Amino acid sequence: MNILLLGSGGREHALAWKMAQSKHCSNLFIAPGNAGTAQCGKNVSIGVNDFDAIKKFAVENNIEMIVVGPEDPLVNGVFDALKADTSTQHIIVIGPSAEGAQLEGSKAFSKKFMQRHNIPTAAYAEFTKDSFEEGKKYIRQHSLPVVLKADGLAAGKGVVIAQTTADALKAFEEMIINQQFGEASSKVVIEQFLDGIELSIFALTDGKDYKIIGHAKDYKRIGVGDTGLNTGGMGCVSPLPFLTDEFLQKIETKIIQPTIQGLQTENIIYNGFVFFGLIKVGDEPFVIEYNCRMGDPETEVVMPRLKNDLVELFLSVHNNTLKDTVIAYDDRACATVVAVSGGYPGDYEKGKQISLPDNVLESKSFIFHAGTKPDNKGEVVTNGGRVLAVTSFGKDIAEAVQLSKNVLGNIHFEGMYFRSDIGYEFNP
Ligand code: AMP
Repeated sequence: MNILLLGSGGREHALAWKMAQSKHCSNLFIAPGNAGTAQCGKNVSIGVNDFDAIKKFAVENNIEMIVVGPEDPLVNGVFDALKADTSTQHIIVIGPSAEGAQLEGSKAFSKKFMQRHNIPTAAYAEFTKDSFEEGKKYIRQHSLPVVLKADGLAAGKGVVIAQTTADALKAFEEMIINQQFGEASSKVVIEQFLDGIELSIFALTDGKDYKIIGHAKDYKRIGVGDTGLNTGGMGCVSPLPFLTDEFLQKIETKIIQPTIQGLQTENIIYNGFVFFGLIKVGDEPFVIEYNCRMGDPETEVVMPRLKNDLVELFLSVHNNTLKDTVIAYDDRACATVVAVSGGYPGDYEKGKQISLPDNVLESKSFIFHAGTKPDNKGEVVTNGGRVLAVTSFGKDIAEAVQLSKNVLGNIHFEGMYFRSDIGYEFNP
């Protein structure tokens, strides 16, 4: 098959790396890709939201499958745009319809969806400019901490956990009145703070059946010991020792099954990944958020652990044969550690030359590129905040993290930083 993958992060390098190994993949194109995806297929210089250019490229290159990496084009309706056009409607699209992507695109939509289907999540209320005074009253009566969420996509920055009522009121005003996130914060969800351990579960669905393809715990803060500013993700680990068969069964029964059934009963077209952002409170799972795509950097551990042919899984989504599919995992522990540009998640410079080792032991460690690109001299240079993710297998999480850190010791660029304590809770 001729396959087009949309996106340019570490997630897309991991997806491209996995798809390139498929017996069904003859030509892989990545739009726009990075210096790493260029090793798995051919990068094409098209933006992920340029639907006209995507359609034109797909027609001219006989693309048979389009896999959508990031949330933006999904929320903007790339699935619907491809299906509405007679020249592209035959293409298999892995990614939900715009309506399905609302699970991520609107916090208010996802909270209502969970309420309708009795899916455990934090108690909440939603407010707009018209109900600003009521919102303030709600905050004043709320227990602390209290969580405020911009309704729409805010590049992972739209959530505030306020420790005091004064901070909550300030954040609320910033979002609603000062439009801190523009249209995305014209509506705000205010919810109960849940105290527990977070984990993410990844499923593939055709909107009727589903298969879990992996799970992970990520590390969002920039600093050692989970301190400092939030980032897109500094690393993650899998499998998680606290995810017992019994707890997983509870997650399936109380969360995953009602979610997929909810999509089906509401006739929401959904052929793609569902990312369940969960929190374990005592022995009970709650949904913190849904995402309508894979996570980054979670994909960088989920794909290496997944033994199945990924394109074959996508074909079983298309053919509605997911229920007959058996998912197989590599049992080893897996960890990824992300190297970022100096200054990230604040301001940082791009264009720093990256020196990469040429002999990484492929059976144990992988370098997934994120913010990288080839410069005009053919060297690889930095092109973003998160530059690359080094994934390793180990006999346990501590060993996997150590192996990744060893590889990072042989990678250099000016200002490079990574967290040294990924997986710290699981150290013996
Ligand atoms: P979200 O964008 O909804 O995933 O929120 C970002 C992060 O905020 C999550 O990964 C959690 O760490 C935290 N968070 C969000 N909602 C809650 C909640 N209700 N209780 C505790 N932490 C939360």
